[in-house]
Amino acid sequence: MNGKSIDGGLGRILTYVRISVTDRCNFRCRYCMPESGVTQLDHSRIMAYEDMLFLFETLVSLGVRRVRLTGGEPFVRKGFVPFLGELRARLPQLSVAITTNGSLVEPFAEELGKLQLDGISVSLDSLDEADFRDITRCGSLSDVLSGIRALRKYSDKVKLNTVLIKGFNDHQLGDLIDFARSERVLLRFIEFMPLDSSVWFQDSFLSVDHMIGRISDGGGWTREGPSLSPDSGPSVYYRNDKTGQRVGFIAAVSHHFCHSCNRLRITSDGEVRPCLFSSEGESLLPALRNRDREELVRSILSGALRKPDCWTDLAVGENHMSRIGG
Ligand code: SAM
Ligand code: SF4
Repeated sequence: MNGKSIDGGLGRILTYVRISVTDRCNFRCRYCMPESGVTQLDHSRIMAYEDMLFLFETLVSLGVRRVRLTGGEPFVRKGFVPFLGELRARLPQLSVAITTNGSLVEPFAEELGKLQLDGISVSLDSLDEADFRDITRCGSLSDVLSGIRALRKYSDKVKLNTVLIKGFNDHQLGDLIDFARSERVLLRFIEFMPLDSSVWFQDSFLSVDHMIGRISDGGGWTREGPSLSPDSGPSVYYRNDKTGQRVGFIAAVSHHFCHSCNRLRITSDGEVRPCLFSSEGESLLPALRNRDREELVRSILSGALRKPDCWTDLAVGENHMSRIGG
């Protein structure tokens, strides 16, 4: 440890990194990508796994404690699971979580269980096969459900994430809660974020307050007190008084948490993005490929300092979650 930390300005010390391991995906979710997909990065520009390991070692030396590997869909990248194994072996102190659409995970479930990841988030936006196919444009719900059940068999760290969108999947709210209870997994509802002007519509937005109003309507849900852990993240949780089931809500838009955001994002081509809404960032690729630790640290620190005071300072543009890493 060299005693340095990653300063994001406004007293924000960045200890949590989300990294996109690939911009490619086997789904085309309507709220994430246009139907034609997004322009894919040339393979020569994507960070190699060895580059990422060097990057993670450097990030840990700068005080990073948690990473989340996402995409695109991480499991479309060859060698992802062995890479996770190598990361676990080299940096056992680092908390490692992944986000996946769940469609390709079933064959790897046991191996993932052995790696004892700190979190496995699976995105699930509908429980109706036809709606699911419509939302993802090509995904199979049954593959995802098999994936979730296989993961559950080997890990108790599985969570479900649902982006709830008006007129799209909000009629599924109750079914999703029931499903999570029956599978004994934690479900979190997420607000739709205005990342890409071609797929985002103000009219489709549902706030967390609205979602909470919907579940609380019949009574029987109690809000939990705030977590005391500094790494607990921005979710609020409600507990069902009868069943004990917990459901989380993430208000990234309506009650954004920019003032306390501790996240740094890195795209699959090695750009530091200080915010999900930043459309450009500092490239780490030359320093990574030259294994130039000093230059790498300099680029990470200067990239982090470009963190906006608040995402609302940045224009809604052509950002795609699949590229930046959601
Ligand atoms: N493919 C993986 C998956 O779907 O879980 C990982 C990448 S995906 C970009 C990560 C998360 O971002 C998913 O939970 C997805 O639902 C969410 N997401 C994508 N676009 C979003 C948007 N505009 N607003 C809110 N969440 C979004
Ligand atoms: Fe792919 Fe995930 Fe985006 Fe859906 S949300 S298109 S699965 S990256």
